Amino acid sequence: MAAQIDLHCHSTISDGALSPQDLVAHAAKSGVKVLALTDHDDMGGLQAARKASSEHDISFINGVEISATWKRRTLHIVGLKIDSENSALKTALDKVRIGRDERAQEMAAGLAKIGIHGAYEGAVAIANQSILTRSHFAQFLVQSGHAKDVRTVFKKFLVKGKPGFVDHQWMTLEEAVSLINASGGSAVIAHPGRYDLGTINMLLLMHEFRSLGGAAIEVVTGSHTPPQFQQFAKIAHKFSLKCSIGSDYHGPGLSYMAMGSVPELPAGCVPVWDDWEEARHLT
Ligand code: AMP
Ligand code: MN
Ligand code: MN
Ligand code: MN
Repeated sequence: MAAQIDLHCHSTISDGALSPQDLVAHAAKSGVKVLALTDHDDMGGLQAARKASSEHDISFINGVEISATWKRRTLHIVGLKIDSENSALKTALDKVRIGRDERAQEMAAGLAKIGIHGAYEGAVAIANQSILTRSHFAQFLVQSGHAKDVRTVFKKFLVKGKPGFVDHQWMTLEEAVSLINASGGSAVIAHPGRYDLGTINMLLLMHEFRSLGGAAIEVVTGSHTPPQFQQFAKIAHKFSLKCSIGSDYHGPGLSYMAMGSVPELPAGCVPVWDDWEEARHLT
């Protein structure tokens, strides 16, 4: 049976295709009962999503997906039940967004060196006032005929060693976890299977994250295969971390997993929502 909770998805506030309102309507239609919106480094959609949720009989959870750097790698840390009015969190995310803009300009400069001009302006036009992400560059590069699809674009232009990649310094893991905790939220490592860390670094990360006050890891996510659901359920248990579920939905045709079709947590997992009032009707 599919889970009725989805704690990771994106709207047009970051790189999703649906507005917060349309995303909530889509979630409701797909059978989701408890939903967190987790845009990249931006809490700007939470108010509208919360309002729409109340009209669709969905319990809404404030969320954000924070970009962080750990051992020179980019990690995504989801904050759940954060206070979107917390000034330290707001200020820190404002700073990340300024950094994103600078990074986007450097990415465009890298692409200009290989003869692709106007990528910054192109990405800005596609982003339509939302934050600038590699997804927007990918869409620009596809639309301007430099690759056949988004998948190919990432491989050719936007990953380490390629002309449009910039080794950006995000906030530290420690800062991300502290900001989330200080605003009353729970910190969750997003899609841990995607970081290509190797066994030792994966265990080091789990240990350090737990010591810093991290609460949970995503076990069931659109980025994991079913064997990885089991693998990360075991890791969560080993490090006394709770477990989360999220589609990482970005919009029709863009997501790894459709909303409303995300499997439930494997047996033995402690859900990150086990003490949440908003999710009491699920357990
Ligand atoms: P950024 O945070 O600007 O580095 O952008 C990262 C976003 O790009 C992710 O959240 C995904 O939505 C998207 N992305 C990253 N890698 C890929 C990939 N290989 N194929 C498609 N989308 C990707
Ligand atoms: Mn994204
Ligand atoms: Mn992510
Ligand atoms: Mn995401």
